[in-house]
Amino acid sequence: MELLEQKIRAEGKIREGDVLKVDGFLNHRMDVDFLCKLGQEFYRLYADCGVNKILTIEASGIGIACLTAQYFHCPVLFAKKSRTLNLSNKLWTSRVHSYTHNTDHDVVVSKSYLTENDRVLIIDDFLANGSALSALIELCQKAGAEVVGAGIVIEKAYQSGGKAIRARGIRVESLARVASMNAADGSITFC
Ligand code: 5GP
Repeated sequence: MELLEQKIRAEGKIREGDVLKVDGFLNHRMDVDFLCKLGQEFYRLYADCGVNKILTIEASGIGIACLTAQYFHCPVLFAKKSRTLNLSNKLWTSRVHSYTHNTDHDVVVSKSYLTENDRVLIIDDFLANGSALSALIELCQKAGAEVVGAGIVIEKAYQSGGKAIRARGIRVESLARVASMNAADGSITFC
């Protein structure tokens, strides 16, 4: 999406650990008018898929998921990060490795809110090695819900996640696909 690529070029900063910082419009301060345009694009891509639930992961996926859901007119469910081992039989649980914090934790959703009646669009801000997206897919699989696809704002396409998840037959639509980032001169190229 040209508009998004321009915004990333203008405002994105490359940080240590191969992290692209876009918190001027996506991850901290949220440019709602702009994010609505991304939501409309996800709607255009998935409008005919019978989506009745949007699933994301706290915290940074929630804003973009909600702004997308207003076009689908469906609820948003966010997987909560759980620091304790959750033994509740009322929760679907999956394990995530956090790219930005380099820690492992469980994520959970209530079994009441994710069921075999759901056709789920997964939304997240970034796709890197695919751990977050894989965990969300696993929650859906445990619930017997159908994953119609994933909508990602920024995919770092030179990392392994997108390729691996597409190879499993899951539709992944990314609005910007970063081909390379150069921390030395701050340049970013897109696929
Ligand atoms: P993955 O699980 O695919 O390795 O990483 C995706 C998750 O890590 C996203 O939910 C996002 O929060 C975070 N993440 C991965 N790469 C970046 C990045 O370059 N910048 C930011 N801001 N977050 C990232």
